[in-house]
Amino acid sequence: MAASHPGTCTTGRYDPEMWFPLPGQKDAIEAARDLCIACPRRWRCLADVLANPQRDGIWGGTTPDERKAINRETREDIERAAAKEGAREREGLATVPA
Ligand code: SF4
Repeated sequence: MAASHPGTCTTGRYDPEMWFPLPGQKDAIEAARDLCIACPRRWRCLADVLANPQRDGIWGGTTPDERKAINRETREDIERAAAKEGAREREGLATVPA
């Protein structure tokens, strides 16, 4: 998972397959999404996967279909959020999963 910005999915506390539910497995998709939304690296993860759109699975709380629907303006918002998230972590204001 998320090798460039390891987060909640790489702590070893969860089965990595959770982030690869089959289409239509709504409960499984929502379970992965909930963990992503609480992940301290969510925005950087989402910015990265938007730059690598061939990836399957739930990344940054989004499904592949949801990522395809993200427009340029929203992508710019995500990149700004990712930059702020990184700054908070560098300042020691964000907790990184252990
Ligand atoms: S946002 Fe989700 S997929 Fe990305 S690092 Fe965090 S838990 Fe993993």
